[in-house]
Amino acid sequence: MLLKTIKRTTAGMLFPFLFYTRSYLLSNLFYSGLGSIFMFHRVCPRSSKPRIRGNAGLEVTPEYLENAILFLRQNNYEIVSLVRAALILNGARIKKKFAVFTFDDGYADNYLHAYPILKKHSVPFTIYVTTHLPDGEAILWWYLLEDLVLKEKKINFKINDQYYQYSCSSLREKDWAYHEIHKIILNGPSNQLNQRIRQVFENYDMSFQEKTSQLSLTWQQIREMSEDPLVEIGAHTIHHEALNKLSEEEVQKEMEGSRDIIQSKIDQKVEHFCYPFGTRNEVGEREFRIAQQCGFKTSTTTRISNIFPEHKNLLQQLPRIPVNQKRDHGNINYLSLWLSGALPCIINKFKRIV
Ligand SMILES: [Zn+2]
Repeated sequence: MLLKTIKRTTAGMLFPFLFYTRSYLLSNLFYSGLGSIFMFHRVCPRSSKPRIRGNAGLEVTPEYLENAILFLRQNNYEIVSLVRAALILNGARIKKKFAVFTFDDGYADNYLHAYPILKKHSVPFTIYVTTHLPDGEAILWWYLLEDLVLKEKKINFKINDQYYQYSCSSLREKDWAYHEIHKIILNGPSNQLNQRIRQVFENYDMSFQEKTSQLSLTWQQIREMSEDPLVEIGAHTIHHEALNKLSEEEVQKEMEGSRDIIQSKIDQKVEHFCYPFGTRNEVGEREFRIAQQCGFKTSTTTRISNIFPEHKNLLQQLPRIPVNQKRDHGNINYLSLWLSGALPCIINKFKRIV
């Protein structure tokens, strides 16, 4: 918690320092690359409902999304599809730098709130679908946990004969309880994850299914969008698990299985893939090789960097720039700190290719 507070404070000072002294421009030459692939998750209108920090970080408002489009175009970026980005890496000419918009997981708000804005501005984009979301089988426990801590004043549960109790009277306590329970759910054997989730929610009347159908895209919405030439549907596995924890056959099943399901639903080829979680902790050389064998044209990680000519030979491990309205204090100009490569260069300790 202390480390997080320090990190937040440092970021709170670093961003304005880099931006207002214009020192971020120093990195432009070596770290801005040919362009950037942006990673979004959810696009949600502002709400007066209190939120838990972690989840809200995955959301931008429709206004922010629209401002990002305008910002990029004002700053001489061309927003292109993933297919076009791969062609640029293979030598296709482009006068400007490029930006690609990608949305992970398959949330309903991508259709409801993002799609109308992207269409209005003729922005091509890719949605990576985890097929368990539209299939209604995903357990979006991190959103249910947020609902639970916001609703209850006290939370009790038992996991493997150990009792846990959290007080959730104030927003500060709720935030604390959320992060502690989040850790408990994740820390443990991955094959018992669902069991731990059920044990946490056992004393409470919460519907996993209702939450999933409330938040997920439907196959009908996916099909409708896929018919639009602006939209590319990519695969993001069936179950959204950390792939390096699975056997080679299981990884292949997750990749090919999700691709085949989506192809059968939209009646089009699915040629792009995105690794769940996608950091060095969850994916590496073995997963890149399997994605290549599966025949994907590109695969994206959540490693943070811009795209350089060297990525021509690293199409199964393309890094991205996570778009986080909260982290950037809602200041659209701070996108420059990412596009120039100033922040990626600090994060990657001056390494360009990650
Ligand atoms: Zn994901």
